[in-house]
Amino acid sequence: MNQTKYIFVTGGVTSSLGKGIIAASLAKLLQARGYRTTIQKFDPYINVDPGTLNPYEHGECYVTDDGAETDLDLGHYERFLNVPTSQANNVTTGRVYLSVIEKERRGEFLGKTVQVVPHITNEIKERMQLLGRSGDYDIVITEIGGTVGDIESLPYIESVRQLVWELGEHNGIVIHLTLVPYLAAAGELKTKPTQHSVKTLMESGIKADILVCRTEHELSQDLRQKLALFCNVKKEAVIQSIDASTIYDVPNLMLEEGLDKVALKKLDLPEKNTPDLSQWNEFLHKLKNPKHEVNIGLVGKYVELQDSYKSILEAFIHAGAANETKVNVISIHSEYLDAKTADEQLKDLDGILVAPGFGGRGIEGKIETVRYARENNIPFFGICLGMQMAVIEYSRNVLGYADANSTEMNEGTTHPVISIMEEQKTITDKGGTMRLGAWKCHIKENSLAHRIYGKTDILERHRHRYEFNGDYLEALENAGLKASGINPDTGLVEIVELENHPFFIGVQYHPEYKSTVANPHPLFVSFVAAAVKNKVCC
Ligand code: GLN
Repeated sequence: MNQTKYIFVTGGVTSSLGKGIIAASLAKLLQARGYRTTIQKFDPYINVDPGTLNPYEHGECYVTDDGAETDLDLGHYERFLNVPTSQANNVTTGRVYLSVIEKERRGEFLGKTVQVVPHITNEIKERMQLLGRSGDYDIVITEIGGTVGDIESLPYIESVRQLVWELGEHNGIVIHLTLVPYLAAAGELKTKPTQHSVKTLMESGIKADILVCRTEHELSQDLRQKLALFCNVKKEAVIQSIDASTIYDVPNLMLEEGLDKVALKKLDLPEKNTPDLSQWNEFLHKLKNPKHEVNIGLVGKYVELQDSYKSILEAFIHAGAANETKVNVISIHSEYLDAKTADEQLKDLDGILVAPGFGGRGIEGKIETVRYARENNIPFFGICLGMQMAVIEYSRNVLGYADANSTEMNEGTTHPVISIMEEQKTITDKGGTMRLGAWKCHIKENSLAHRIYGKTDILERHRHRYEFNGDYLEALENAGLKASGINPDTGLVEIVELENHPFFIGVQYHPEYKSTVANPHPLFVSFVAAAVKNKVCC
């Protein structure tokens, strides 16, 4: 196949309809039919990337192997497709403008007036075709963030209009995702918001090829017919997306609705084989038929917004299925946890995860949590800041360095057991300047980490500025906190673990970003297994 085909996914009526999940589910089905498929997301905000956003804004910042700080939807793409994404898979308005303005400064526009049309739209179109031109994909799905009709979305919608025209018939199609609300008082599903949304899209010159309708109730044949007639699509192109108990059901629901078939027909591509979802369905079967149940505490400071820890929560779903275990993740706010309340708040947990994070808010609660898990032999898993808290806790409570801290929290500490890297000291820009992306780690043999990974050399994704301070390595190791994973190039400590504890591990990197349905992350799988064991035995 030489012509890459493009599918654009737009959204209307409201935000949070799950465009990312629909895009990922369709991609999964096309991939399972044998098409090389990728997904990219274009976000209309002006931040150059989501790296500088507080998690309360848009949820977690997802990190790719190549060190891009991206929208959390890229996490769904990877978890569904099991194919890594990259910087090219996420573009924001900020990045588009930055690159156009840099070109202008270099004089690349030869004295022309630089305008939204054509300069910004050309830049968007270029970026929309970047992955397609690599030759690695048969189909590129592009999710347009935001809602049709927003001021911010206009340049993207115009770019889609132009590109669909330029690509020619059957090479670019548009899927529009809307909401069909149910009015309980009238006992009716309402199509009007969808009609208006499709009309708004039409005003921008785009005719939706397929409608995906989010709904809480089944769409009747009559209603589908009505939507088709008033929205100018074939009836078979009205796809119902009914609320599902898990996002992992959505590929099967879309298969039943024939979303992949309609899309292939519109793109003039053969259906090839029936999608092979056997591995996926095996995962679903285990997910829905657990033999055990555990309570895992997730101790963090952004717990009010579940999306802040999206990849961690998803990694627990994968690891739970792998262990045939229902994992109840109990969110615990680290800010409201102290030495007095720790025992009460943490006593019913079978395992404890201390979450990543930035800044001083809630860190004393995290340190108390580590102490509780360590002293009470509760399986403990610390990620990034969570690992740093484990090092601080051990330094304070075992080595007796009362003011041990990270220089992120206390620059004047006499025991900076976590400190900033030399090369980070001169950096003043916040965006894109942390230790980011995949870095090597060498695991010591016969360690817990070695038993978990079953190998000695791994690549894991990072997103942090502060590090384990090597000056304290000997003292901490002699006291029992071992560095079982080291970066072979820099000597930086990547993994710490405790001897004489059922399961105590802290990692400087973010394993959650690499957990997928096809490849649940071994650290999460082993941690859940340890929690099951802890529950049964103790
Ligand atoms: N704030 C810590 C650092 O920058 C940890 C970051 C994180 O948990 N991702 O090193």
